[in-house]
Amino acid sequence: MLTLVYPGTFDPITRGHEDITRRAAQLFGGVIVAVAENVNKKTCFSLEERVDMATEVFAGDPRIEVKGFRGLLSHFLKDQHANIILRGLRAVSDFEYEFQLAGMNRNLAPDVETLFLSASDPFMFVSATIVREIFRLGGDVSPFVHPAVLAYLNAKAESF
Ligand code: ADP
Repeated sequence: MLTLVYPGTFDPITRGHEDITRRAAQLFGGVIVAVAENVNKKTCFSLEERVDMATEVFAGDPRIEVKGFRGLLSHFLKDQHANIILRGLRAVSDFEYEFQLAGMNRNLAPDVETLFLSASDPFMFVSATIVREIFRLGGDVSPFVHPAVLAYLNAKAESF
């Protein structure tokens, strides 16, 4: 049996993340969206908020579970008995980092394979960072995020 984990910061979850998740769920029957605490980046939304947003986005889809985790991904994978890490690739610029990460995760969790799905055309240029930046500058981000995420952004507007 395959257990897929899609790890990321999801600060906030975008239509691009959503697309990768739903396509993987369609292909493999299910996926766990694993929202990382991320101690390296100062996130805009707390871990709890990021988990809540993703949970709202995927509400009603029984194939998709959302879980937050702290610490090493390899430990979380073991806890979940997961054997596949799912990642998305947008452009060549993602490749080097993703390749390095996959190599490190192979060392830390040799039984787990990293699998990549390429971004769908309309989401090729969508990143959480760019969504936050456009929102901060007063632009319309509604094409790039789920309405539930837009509500979270609007509620936090003054702290951007
Ligand atoms: P980001 O801040 O770049 O959106 P995350 O850590 O939240 O990064 O992303 C988790 C994974 O999702 C990464 O593998 C990233 O490359 C991928 N990803 C992010 N945005 C998209 C997108 N628009 N299409 C496909 N994959 C994406």
